[in-house]
Amino acid sequence: MADFNKHFRMKVEDVVLYAREKLDIFSEDADLKAKEIGDGNINYVFKVWDEKTGQSVVIKQADTLLRSSGRPLDTDRNRIEAEALMLQSKLAPSFVPKVYKYDPIMCALTMEDISDHYNLRYELLKRKKFPKFADHITSFMVNTLLLTTDLVLDPAEKKRKVKNFINVELCDISEKLVFTEPYNDYLGRNIILRENINFVQKIVYEDKRLALEASKLKNNFINNAQSLIHGDLHSGSIFVNEESTKIIDPEFAFYGPMGYDVGNVVGNLFFSWVNAYVTMDEEEKREDFLSYLEGTIEDVVDLFTHKFKKMYKESVTDVLAKSPAYMDWYLNTVLTDTCGVSGLEIMRRTVGDSKVVDITGIEDLQQRIKAERILILLAKYLILNRNHIRQGKDYIDALQVALQEYNYHK
Ligand code: ADP
Ligand code: MG
Repeated sequence: MADFNKHFRMKVEDVVLYAREKLDIFSEDADLKAKEIGDGNINYVFKVWDEKTGQSVVIKQADTLLRSSGRPLDTDRNRIEAEALMLQSKLAPSFVPKVYKYDPIMCALTMEDISDHYNLRYELLKRKKFPKFADHITSFMVNTLLLTTDLVLDPAEKKRKVKNFINVELCDISEKLVFTEPYNDYLGRNIILRENINFVQKIVYEDKRLALEASKLKNNFINNAQSLIHGDLHSGSIFVNEESTKIIDPEFAFYGPMGYDVGNVVGNLFFSWVNAYVTMDEEEKREDFLSYLEGTIEDVVDLFTHKFKKMYKESVTDVLAKSPAYMDWYLNTVLTDTCGVSGLEIMRRTVGDSKVVDITGIEDLQQRIKAERILILLAKYLILNRNHIRQGKDYIDALQVALQEYNYHK
């Protein structure tokens, strides 16, 4: 087995051999050790290091079967992830791990070890603050999204990229889990607290406007080959420390609407907000942390807009698109998608079957019921009002409306 000429799922021992035989990274006399560090549902992730020097890499392997359910899933996702990371590292160099090797036989991606950064979702649950995060994530998004459009790229090059990043099976997952199931539960996979079933029935399933708007957003996701998007930019794909931000795991990447990424970032910040809102009992600390998160949400939207316009003026090559009126129209569509997707992400993580620990980790049942209801009302408001929500402060106003509606429905 150990010649690595045919795909098999590696165990820790195999990964050490693999690093020795297939990577030109460690020295001949390295004392290599490995451990599995993956915590996701999909792939196997290992850290390999030299005990003598401390030098390390991370190897992410895609198996033919999903790690969680054992269902088959196309291993081409590992190529897509590797190629997306390589492209992103050209466009936004400091924000992604460096790729050292992509092995199409073993479906193994060897990359920089970024363990000096921590999972943003968990850090926010520890009430840590990252003052540079909004600046970093908006630079990452504007660079990787705007610079992969056909406003900037040569049209033939852009179309080659669209083709290269066709991601059939992972897009299918998003189309079902994000855009469809939360609104009708047609596969019976939604997971809802017993205490919230009637609420979801009334506020979500029986409101036909929601299914209609989700369908329109789904059509846009499927047909708007605008940018090379990350495709799963939730706060567990973002790793941070005080100084630096790294974005990992772009296996859902494909050519889709850029607002999908921006909306995911914004939506996920609301999970941290609601968690803090319902669980923190020290008034002063709570207000302080909530206002930090509100400021971050505002900054993500407003800095994205600001940097988008700046880069648009500097980089757009298409003759007609250079017109300021066109830029405004274009950005407006992106901000509409952003808002709609932020609502979809909030809804699907609350009603659908892929949960986030910000919600499932709320131990007190009454607090969790409340958190979920606020999120559902917020999600609905964002989806239905996406044509009017433009600036960061509009999102905070939407939150206030959701809180008022929550009190009304109580
Ligand atoms: P999956 O696709 O299965 O969700 P991820 O890419 O999210 O896998 O990786 C799972 C975990 O492995 C991450 O949450 C992180 O803790 C760790 N990890 C992944 N890539 C790296 C890396 N380059 N450096 C350090 N840790 C990593
Ligand atoms: Mg993943």
